[in-house]
Amino acid sequence: SPTISVELSISTLPEELSSSNTLFLCILRDLTLHKAEYGLLKQKANTDYLTGLANRHRFADYLTKQWNICEQDNLPLSIIFIDIDHFKDFNDRYGHIAGDRCLKRIGETISLSLPHRDTLAARYGGEEFTILLSNTDKVAAHAVAERVRTAATQLRCDDETRSFSLTISLGVTELQQGESAATLFDRADQALYQAKKTGRNKTITA
Ligand code: GH3
Ligand code: MG
Ligand code: MG
Repeated sequence: SPTISVELSISTLPEELSSSNTLFLCILRDLTLHKAEYGLLKQKANTDYLTGLANRHRFADYLTKQWNICEQDNLPLSIIFIDIDHFKDFNDRYGHIAGDRCLKRIGETISLSLPHRDTLAARYGGEEFTILLSNTDKVAAHAVAERVRTAATQLRCDDETRSFSLTISLGVTELQQGESAATLFDRADQALYQAKKTGRNKTITA
């Protein structure tokens, strides 16, 4: 049977209005619509519009939560930074619409290549993605990164007349005891930079 959410407030009426018997005023407010709208807004606030992946905001929340869990239970936590190779050239050559379509396909490819548990993939910025893997050391994270990279090379983004391929570069690292998020991200960024500098379409683990 369908349920509805309500808010109930009860107050007593002032004595001068209620003669000898105490009178109550009850107000019942239907919150069903509010709840549905709130759920939708929450979903939107956490999701990247183009790719449907988590957005950076959701990623930050998830990181805080997993960070605490991993620290408390002394479990490893790894992060993967992903950046599409030569994507500016791609946009310049094929246009922004084709670029957007490819971003979407890359997002799907990342999702499909992930282990299902304890993992979150997010669109971090324009053509940059990140994956957080809790309870995963950097050796296992590197293997995940390579699976994503290989899947990306096999991806064909088509429009009516053309077929495109893209590659991605990845930087992987693992949380070290007592360090800050800033230094963790910095190391992942450095690893990604090395992957770019040494030829792209590769994963570097730091
Ligand atoms: P590199 O291999 O060094 O990463 O080269 P790059 O061209 O990918 O790097 P750069 O940071 O210079 O360019 C990123 C480009 O990504 C710029 C912009 O054209 C494109 N881009 C960023 N966000 C979007 C988006 O939402 N849609 C589309 N279509 N393109 C985007
Ligand atoms: Mg970039
Ligand atoms: Mg790029």
